[in-house]
Amino acid sequence: METSSKITEINGVGQELKKLFGNIGINTIADLIENYPRRYEDYSNVQSISKIRPGMVTIRANIKQTKGRYARRGIHITEAVASDDSGSVKLVWFNQPYRSASIKRGVQYYISGDFELRRQRFCIQNPSIELVSNFPLSTARIVPVYRETKGLKSAQIGRVLKEILPLIRETKETLPEWILRGNNLLPKAAAIEMIHFPVSTTILAKAERRIGFEEIFELTLASLLNKYELAREMSIRVPFDEVAARTFVKNLPFKLTDSQRRAIWQIFLDMDKEQPMNRLLEGDVGSGKTVVATMAAMMVVRNSFQVALLAPTEILARQHAETVTDLLSPLGLSAGVRLLVGGLSGSKKQRIYDDIKTGRASFIIGTHALLQEKVNMQRLGLIIVDEQHRFGVDQRRALQKKAGHMPHVLNMTATPIPRSLALTLYGEMDISVMSSKPGGRLPVVTRIVSPNSRQQLYQDIDRELEAGRQMFVVTPLIDGSGDTDDKSVKDVYESLTKGVYRHRRVGLLHGKMKPKEKESVMNMFAIKKLDILVSTTVIEVGVNIPNATVMLIENADRFGLAQIHQLRGRVGRSNFQGYCYLMMSDSSTPSRRLRALEQMNDGFKLAELDLEIRGPGAIYGTLQHGELDLRIAKLSDTKLIAASRRSAQEFIDRGENLLEYKQLKERVQGIRAITNLN
Ligand code: ADP
Ligand code: MG
Repeated sequence: METSSKITEINGVGQELKKLFGNIGINTIADLIENYPRRYEDYSNVQSISKIRPGMVTIRANIKQTKGRYARRGIHITEAVASDDSGSVKLVWFNQPYRSASIKRGVQYYISGDFELRRQRFCIQNPSIELVSNFPLSTARIVPVYRETKGLKSAQIGRVLKEILPLIRETKETLPEWILRGNNLLPKAAAIEMIHFPVSTTILAKAERRIGFEEIFELTLASLLNKYELAREMSIRVPFDEVAARTFVKNLPFKLTDSQRRAIWQIFLDMDKEQPMNRLLEGDVGSGKTVVATMAAMMVVRNSFQVALLAPTEILARQHAETVTDLLSPLGLSAGVRLLVGGLSGSKKQRIYDDIKTGRASFIIGTHALLQEKVNMQRLGLIIVDEQHRFGVDQRRALQKKAGHMPHVLNMTATPIPRSLALTLYGEMDISVMSSKPGGRLPVVTRIVSPNSRQQLYQDIDRELEAGRQMFVVTPLIDGSGDTDDKSVKDVYESLTKGVYRHRRVGLLHGKMKPKEKESVMNMFAIKKLDILVSTTVIEVGVNIPNATVMLIENADRFGLAQIHQLRGRVGRSNFQGYCYLMMSDSSTPSRRLRALEQMNDGFKLAELDLEIRGPGAIYGTLQHGELDLRIAKLSDTKLIAASRRSAQEFIDRGENLLEYKQLKERVQGIRAITNLN
């Protein structure tokens, strides 16, 4: 038996169990071993019966007076009495009629369960019981809780794992000895054993630290290797031209913020090298990333190279094309701007393809349409990817292949990610963070609203509308569906147009509409032909409508913290006060997440809080690759991250050969297949 063997080789695992395990993605022994517990229940504290208090308890006792009976409505109840030297306690099981027959007299059991009040008497309800003489798995220890599936309980998974404990103990070491010693890490075999069979909370913490260290180490090593490989590629040098930069800045309708200045300077330095830039521009919504990207593009275009800007939606691509044209026309560079989106007619597209080929088009802005075969960009010097988390590496790679050389890449994101996390997730990129926002903006006032106050809120909002402002209403669903109470965009649209806002002009926008329809509604809203836009989250990214100052989010409790923060960025884009109302699904107490949104406006602080509340999944959810998921490491553990990053760097500096570490090599290759731009 080896870790690569099928689980049916394990004693007691037949076809039936094989199928159940298959349902949760476990086919081989390695899958089973890497199926780490979701959490633990601590039953390690075995107490005398006289000492137990309400809550989860474990005792060591004899069991007597077992009897089963059927109670009202056909519920089966088994009752028994457990006794030790200090006293007795009642045990109760529901619908487990086999219990009374299986309990032996005169032997000692470990009994773990919830000690609580039932019909005015304290008893232990639905306890797990195991013979003291056996190797206890569900009692008298820290009990791992695994993800379950119908017919396959956590305890059963634990029993199967116990069968392969000897194999677990033979697990080969995956990290170099000097890393283990230098970081005081448990050997791999011990760590895996303690993850599944922890003997104390202290050693469990050490085991988790070891596995977490390795996860971060692999990610970092992969990104460092990506980075070194990229640095060996040749790109096009874009010499920095001070006069051009000054002219661009002089023609802006505003003064650049310090953050914008710093970011653009870093980009200019990067592009003035023969190695390709691979930079992430990270800035909260409204921090002004577009102008930074345009300034970088200007420098490339002036040097007679092409720029491609990839945007996730057509609306956004259009808006970028307008902004860019405005910014470049004072410099006489706007004639080369082209918009390439799916909705164009065949002949228009053909003309753009030709312009791209001949070089008449120097700055091409578009959606996925840019990735098509026919787009031929030989002189591509810079790729800008807006909202980069919306695109996979494959798509970025496709664009880059068009050049035949490695162009500079500027990725932009409005997802504020704490620095430690950004370094781990996006280690192969250099990062520019824009922390300050253009001055003169009032922070969006955010308020949680209970459905009871809906009518009052509608009246307050109507005063804003009367004053000429506009409102977004955001809902979680497109169509109403039977199984949830969540508001659908169509229902809300109906009820507002027929009800409280029948005197206002209301538009409807959702993802299932044709691009042309979406475009026209968006446009109507932008030119103030609509007062209210009822929409799904398709308005999330980028759109800029400064006169819209009110946002009402229905079923706000259904949205993620980061998502709401992005959404409300839409109403904080002018000198008018912006308002964001978070309408609850019901009148229950708002969550900590929603309250944080009321109190904080800083995207980075909120991201940190989100990480703390929801764990790394919150941010990983925005990536499209489960392969990169961390299963044990907590991204809030900055010390652990720093230590494993240091080791990864040292691994390279020492000239360690990855070929000597078989498993590490495989893992790192797997990660690089996803993250490497080459
Ligand atoms: P985001 O970073 O969310 O993409 P945008 O680039 O769309 O933000 O910029 C948001 C708005 O702020 C735009 O209307 C833009 O013209 C404006 N803006 C950008 N930089 C500045 C600045 N330094 N001062 C004032 N307004 C600015
Ligand atoms: Mg933007």
